[in-house]
Amino acid sequence: MYLFINSVYLSFEFCNFVRSTYFFIKTSLSLYLHPQKFLFTHFEHRIIMKIMKFGGTSVGKPERMHQVAQLITKTDEPKIVVLSALSGTTNALVGISDYLAARNKVEAKTSIDKLEAHYRDFVLLLASTEEARAKANAIVTEHFEFLNIILLISFSDALNKDILAQGELLSTKLFSVFLEEQGIAHELLPALDFMTIDEYEEPQLPNIREKLTAILSEHKSTKLFVTQGYICRNAKGEVDNLKRGGSDYTASLVAAAIKATVCEIWTDIDGMHNNDPRIVDKTLPIKQISFDEAAELAYFGAKILHPTCIWPAQLTNVPVKLLNTMQPEAEGTVITQEAGSVGVKAVAAKDGIIAIKIKSSRMLLAYGFLRKIFEVFEKYRTSIDMITTSEVAVSVTIDSNLHLEEIVKELELYGTVEVDTNQTIVSIVGNEISKTEHILQRLFESIAEIPVRMVSYGGSPHNVSLLVNSEFKIKTLQLLNKGLFGL
Ligand code: ASP
Ligand code: MG
Repeated sequence: MYLFINSVYLSFEFCNFVRSTYFFIKTSLSLYLHPQKFLFTHFEHRIIMKIMKFGGTSVGKPERMHQVAQLITKTDEPKIVVLSALSGTTNALVGISDYLAARNKVEAKTSIDKLEAHYRDFVLLLASTEEARAKANAIVTEHFEFLNIILLISFSDALNKDILAQGELLSTKLFSVFLEEQGIAHELLPALDFMTIDEYEEPQLPNIREKLTAILSEHKSTKLFVTQGYICRNAKGEVDNLKRGGSDYTASLVAAAIKATVCEIWTDIDGMHNNDPRIVDKTLPIKQISFDEAAELAYFGAKILHPTCIWPAQLTNVPVKLLNTMQPEAEGTVITQEAGSVGVKAVAAKDGIIAIKIKSSRMLLAYGFLRKIFEVFEKYRTSIDMITTSEVAVSVTIDSNLHLEEIVKELELYGTVEVDTNQTIVSIVGNEISKTEHILQRLFESIAEIPVRMVSYGGSPHNVSLLVNSEFKIKTLQLLNKGLFGL
């Protein structure tokens, strides 16, 4: 862990309670906890193929799907297209699952019927020939029959995963029918044949590579493949998934597995911006950014890219491009190993943060105190985002309250514990930020009016993170936009 916890001593005039700060990001921690990811280094060669991933809104309407077909056939280089479920579907499936878990079969049935009706309408506009519509309707029938059968079975966690998998299975199969109708040659690759996770729910990259390359070599003359994002098989061989928003992860894993030339993530926004466009008036798109910077941004709220999806691409040095389906000509953002330029690139915020302070005079001059504290979080599989320490206290943040009660109870063995909910991490990200002249001065001067609960600096040279009460988030982002970007 010492690799990722890198402390620097700082003393800001207005926040001199902070003696040292530690910071590490989830992706680094995950690499540390799952060293098998490092084992995947013996690549043979780069397969000349690109990955194109389209999210829920990009396939959410029949006309959008038609546009996706155009986008993927613009060039004839070999490619694997990864699709999410139609927008709204996974949420609906989660709802159905929840009803079933609560034994509310009536509501579950109503939701299933409503979703089915949505797909019947979708098919009508997706395909234009009777033959293709019949094929598409048969697919819809097959999957909704499955959901209706589930109504009769007693609910289990495995069944829940089966339900959640229906969205990506439907979107890819329907898309395949449309491609076929258009005479576009392609192969539908079942992700369940090659995407696997281990007993810790970590993707098995070497295994994915082996399976996927074997499948691809069976289709040497095929130039276009379509597969499902999000779904996979777990260690027990059951259907599972890569967690919500996991289609980006699939794309990145597939790209890494075959060492693709590029991994394109197509969404409905034109790349990453320097600040949250929903909150501040003026934002600028970021043209180029490094994996390290993107990892920090992705975790801290830049919703455009799922944070887990950075490491596979980074490990295999596959550039990731963030592109906009609604504006395909726009440059978007490219994420590469190199940073391009030095300095602050973006500001991002993450809500729903809980700060926990553990205060104990036993910490004074003691060793092993932090380990004990960390072990409590490890026991409850809760990852820590920010850490700041003083001589007699340590504050950490977490983004899940799943085991908060148990964690607090155990921490109380080591000192007085205080919990602040409703906090927001505001993260300032940029290549070698720490070397940028007067950066801290500019930063803190611009937010002088904001009460800051924690400051984390020095964990990586690419990031400064602040913890503020969520009520100050908007103001903080606006002030930083002015102070750091002059916007
Ligand atoms: N359909 C899944 C979800 O909504 C995966 C994804 O879209 O990335 O979470
Ligand atoms: Mg997504």
